[in-house]
Order: sequence, then structure tokens, then C-alpha cells
Amino acid sequence: DTSGLQPAQERLTEQGIDVVRLGYADLIGVDRGRDVLVNRFARTVGSGVAFCRSVFGTTPRGGVVDFEGGLSAGLPDVQAFPDLDTLLPVPWEPGVAHCIADVFNPDGTPSRESPRFVLRQICEQFQELGLTPVVGPELEFYVLEESPESPSGWKRYGEGTGNVYTSGFTGDPQNVLLDALRHLGNYGLEVISANHEFSSGQFEINLWHGEALDAADRAHRFKDAIKELARRRGQLATFMPKPFNDEGGSGYHLHFSIADADGTPLFHDPADPYGLSEMARHAIGGLLAHARAVAALNNPTINSYKRFGPDTLAPWLIDWGLDNRSAMVRIPPERGSGTRLELRLGDASANSYLAIAGMLAAVLLGIRNKIEPPEPLIGYGYDETRSEKLPQSLSDALDALEQDKELADLLGQPFVNAFVAYKRDEVERFRTWITDWEFHEYTYHI
Ligand code: GLU
Ligand code: MG
Ligand code: MG
Repeated sequence: DTSGLQPAQERLTEQGIDVVRLGYADLIGVDRGRDVLVNRFARTVGSGVAFCRSVFGTTPRGGVVDFEGGLSAGLPDVQAFPDLDTLLPVPWEPGVAHCIADVFNPDGTPSRESPRFVLRQICEQFQELGLTPVVGPELEFYVLEESPESPSGWKRYGEGTGNVYTSGFTGDPQNVLLDALRHLGNYGLEVISANHEFSSGQFEINLWHGEALDAADRAHRFKDAIKELARRRGQLATFMPKPFNDEGGSGYHLHFSIADADGTPLFHDPADPYGLSEMARHAIGGLLAHARAVAALNNPTINSYKRFGPDTLAPWLIDWGLDNRSAMVRIPPERGSGTRLELRLGDASANSYLAIAGMLAAVLLGIRNKIEPPEPLIGYGYDETRSEKLPQSLSDALDALEQDKELADLLGQPFVNAFVAYKRDEVERFRTWITDWEFHEYTYHI
């Protein structure tokens, strides 16, 4: 439907916007797009803005991984159409508005590799049951500064100063976090709060909960904005899951609940010993049963699996607990309409659409198959005799995703094929790459 384009173009011009940045998430959650002049917006976008289909196969270093209908088919077009409900002026770039696009094939069918499509499709399955998934994303990240003396060329911003929940000059001497919070607030991302995390230069910003697709859109923009704002200061904001050996990783926690079609929350049951409804229990059961495959989407990099470990605040075992931060699924203490779960599995490298889609698919299977979780974890959460371990590598998680036919069905097999091909290429490139650790370990003594 393109009827809204001309009025949107006029409104944008009235607001002093002369460029629309049309963007969508690729497989790794990077915003890909084109800048379109507003006076051409309605005409240009009316028939879709064309991109090379390789966009879903390009790696961070610029290679192209083939998937069905990609490189081997001669890199045909895909067409991006704006979702006009998502048009927002970019506060730090006067004259520019960002608009999220949906991606289609030239024959008008949705591009099934598109992460936003994958999520939409699962949300529709909830809708058919009269259910609305509600998600609140929490993202951690590090801010780094250039440092010629350090081997990587980077050091942590505010190194040696900040600590968890220290605020103001101590941990944020240049107001990097404060400015980001204000900009994101003005960008309509519904940020709640920002805080210093455990390590120097590590921060967390929480987003208000919303319907799944809206939450994913906001979280996607959030990551893009944080990176962009840091680069403008000559800094680097990184969502790498575990950038330093001796410091905590960066998590991507998802708070989650389900409402009915009227918005009534469905996770509380005062009669249950834990105050959880049957639906909440089944949601937990589904997440535990499908955790290994869900990890492929929530922990999608080689580095992701170095964040997991005993005695971290990241999970290690496939378990759940009541207000227990060592569990993979934590149930925050609030009951009543705020009854929710917190999936602590994901790390910051996750694509927002895919992380949420993976979680929703597992929850849907939990509800459909009435999967009951075991008794919750109590106390220390890293006892390996009690629960199964999370996958230990990206390769293991990809195996699990391929083997989990029910989950793959919900995500769509064409998407799973493209994602697995893309990620197997990453695994293989790493497998044959000589790391510093190997060099130190093996050159001298052996
Ligand atoms: N950084 C931890 C993680 O990787 C989480 C710390 C927290 O609970 O805020 O998940
Ligand atoms: Mg945190
Ligand atoms: Mg959290």
C-alpha cells in the first residue's frame, strides 16, 4: 500500500526533513539502507527501493556468503518498502528521518531471510491464538577509546574509575552515557534508564516494554544509534559479547510476558505457589526445552560462548529460578500485572529481531505442547550435576538449531538455511585462524 507516501512526504517537508534514511536489519542486525531525498521519497519508494540480495549474506569484513537464491542465483534484487509507522526524525542529524523497511522479492513475496519478516511471522501465530507477546529489552555494551599503546589500539573509556551503579563523573567523565540517554529519549525509543555496569566503560540501557515487533524495532535502532553516537565522538561502542578476558560480558536480557487481545496480562496466578499461571510455566518449559537452538539466535557469534561460565552473571546451565540472576530464565519478584520472565541467555551481539523471534518460537512451542518446567533453581546456580549445560560453541548451537525441526518450522526453513550457511562460514573462518593465545601457548615451550 503506497497511498500514505505522498502525505508522509508533505509532512516530512513541513518538519524540515529533507532526507529519509530507509533501513532494515540484515542477518547480524546491522542496519542496511539508502538515504532518499524527501522530494523524491514518494516516487522512489512507491515501487520499492532495490538492493542487491547479497545484503543478507555480507559478512562484517565485506565477504559474501552464498545462500539459496543469493550469489549462486546471480545476486538478484530485493525491494525495500518503508513501514511508515516507523518514521522518526533522527535527533542528532537535523534534516534526517529514519524509517524501517520491509524487504520483498521482485515477485511481491516477502524476503524470507529478512529478520523482521521472521519475527512478524511468529507474532502472527500468537495473534491467531488471541495472544500478544510483550518484550522489554535490556542491552549492555562497552565504550572504548583509541589507545595507541594498547595492542588492540583501544582501551576502555573511563578505565579504572567506574563500577556497577556508580553514576556521574566517576564512571562517565565525558557524559557519553548521559548524552546517549537524552538522544535516545528524543528518538522515541522509550528508554527507561541508563546505568554503569560492573566493568569500567561498560554500560546498560533499558527500554520500556512493548509489543514484540515494536520492541525489536526500538532495540534495533538503539544498537545502531549507540554505535553511531560513539563514532561521532571518535569512540567505539561495542556489542561484542565478551571483549576482555578479565571483565564481564555484555548481556542482552529480554523481559517477557504475554497479554490477551485486550491487553490483559496472562502470567500471574495468585493460586499458584510461585504466583505463575499455567501459560507462564509453559513459556518457561518451552524456553528450557529449546534453549540449545534458541542460543544460536541469542548468542550468534564465536565470541558469545566465552561469555557463558560459572560465577559470572551470565548463565551457564539451562535452568530457571525465582529472582535468581545465575539462572538462564529469571522470574523477577514482581507479581500482578508486572509478572514476567527475564531471559538472560542472550548477549549484546544478537540481532534484535532474531533474538526475540527465537524466544517467541520456543515459548509458542512450550504453550502448544504444554511443556512443564522442572522445579526452579534455588541458591547457587552453577551446579552442573543439576542441569544441562548451554551449548559450548556456536557450532554446537547451530547443530541444535538445525536439529530442532519444530523451532526451525516456526522460524521458516529458508531463513534457517540462510542463517546457518552464513554462520557456518564464520565458524570455518575462525577454525583456521591462528589466535594470539595459540601463539603464546605453543611457540616457545613446544
Ligand atoms: N553482564 C551480565 C551478562 O552478561 C549481566 C549483568 C547484570 O545482571 O546486569 O549477562
Ligand atoms: Mg546489567
Ligand atoms: Mg537484566
